[in-house]
Amino acid sequence: MVEHHGSQCGFCTPGIVLSLAGLYENSQSSDKAIDRESVCDAISGNLCRCTGYRPIIDAGLDMVRTAKDAQFIELMSKNDNIKSQLLAFKEVEKPASLSNQSYLQPMTLAELLQVKTAHLDAIMIAGGTDLMLENTQRFHDFGTLIDVSHVAELKQIQCNGTTLTLGASVTYSELEHFSKTRYPHIYNLLSRIASRQIRNRGTIGGNVANASPIADLPPLLLAFDADMQLVKTDGSKRVVNINDFYQGYKTTVLAKERGKDELIASFDLALSKLEQFHRFYKVSKRMEDDISSVLLAVRFELSDDKISDVRFAFGGMAATPIRAKNAEQSLVGKNINDEQALTQAIENLRRELTPLSDMRASSRYRLDMACNLIKKAWLELNGTQVPTFSGHALSESMLSLGNEITGQEGATHA
Ligand SMILES: Cc1cc2nc3c(=O)[nH]c(=O)nc-3n(C[C@H](O)[C@H](O)[C@H](O)COP(=O)(O)OP(=O)(O)OC[C@H]3O[C@@H](n4cnc5c(N)ncnc54)[C@H](O)[C@@H]3O)c2cc1C
Repeated sequence: MVEHHGSQCGFCTPGIVLSLAGLYENSQSSDKAIDRESVCDAISGNLCRCTGYRPIIDAGLDMVRTAKDAQFIELMSKNDNIKSQLLAFKEVEKPASLSNQSYLQPMTLAELLQVKTAHLDAIMIAGGTDLMLENTQRFHDFGTLIDVSHVAELKQIQCNGTTLTLGASVTYSELEHFSKTRYPHIYNLLSRIASRQIRNRGTIGGNVANASPIADLPPLLLAFDADMQLVKTDGSKRVVNINDFYQGYKTTVLAKERGKDELIASFDLALSKLEQFHRFYKVSKRMEDDISSVLLAVRFELSDDKISDVRFAFGGMAATPIRAKNAEQSLVGKNINDEQALTQAIENLRRELTPLSDMRASSRYRLDMACNLIKKAWLELNGTQVPTFSGHALSESMLSLGNEITGQEGATHA
């Protein structure tokens, strides 16, 4: 970082160094070469406001050479001494103010239900990327936390011939890895969620349970009519379709009754639906590490040249993730290239949704975007190539274009 003039005010430098060090360590254990794309991915959650990214990326690309440098190896051997001193660090006694806090980490569903029964007021935490805002923004102290991120049954990704099952504690990075070659549109959407650091921790279950109207995965799950497997503390189970899950702003059907509260175990998606035409369009002010102003998840089911079913599921357009059912209905039974039906769908959409205005986007902007995104999906269904930049494509092609494109987004291209 020093050699490449990668640090100026220094505020962001420690975070960037840690992200790059993480990339270096991972590349050593996986034999993966460090290239421009992996450096951009590793620092996607680190914002620098003064140096500029070019020197930082140069420093990242130079890590492999630096790591072989004799001076650096000597420095790192001193670092090993520091490591052993840190490992010798003795655990200190908890201050009295923290005496009611504990952190439990069950490894199986049976253990999870057992600790939930023993700690009825405990709060579940998966990646903590939503929950911890309660602490950092509202100074909320948690009592007992039950970490569900290691529970084996909640970590599964399984195909059984007709269904893809995604455990609630599957992280975005794990889903990215799984979908890369199988479901490229899902993979591209995931690249637009937060940054690598958050994607390594954030889970599908946390995203859905948090019930934010601007969360990115609920529209995707709505587009595929996902079934959710819910489990109560007493072990009883039920299946709820995602279409029936959200009741209002930040409220869901998850039972909250003491001793009988529910958790999400997994999501089931029909493989036949995953094979149908689907797209996801995220509009946000920034390409990386930004929350959606509007997100559309769309799926068309075709029978010859006719649309036999369609899903338009939105984030950012109402108090909950929502489907535009009237707009959907205008296309059902119509030819895929019926432009009048498309116009009708867009008119219906304008009438049925009244999005909020907030710091991310005005109501009018959201509605215009939603209409344009439906048109984009229809054009793509009919074989027209409409440019879309995904986070993955950004690293290679857009950085070389510099400011010309940075800051525009999928919105401009929709
Ligand atoms: C910098 C940053 C950027 C972000 N960008 C995005 C983005 O682009 N798109 C987006 O959608 N989100 C974004 N988020 C929000 C967040 O990362 C996601 O919503 C994430 O999926 C939450 O998952 P988690 O595992 O961290 O949940 P946690 O924070 O651990 O939990 C969230 C809530 O869900 C509950 N919960 C967790 N697991 C379960 C379960 N199995 N059953 C029942 N309840 C459960 C917890 O009790 C808690 O109430 C961002 C967050 C940050 C900090």
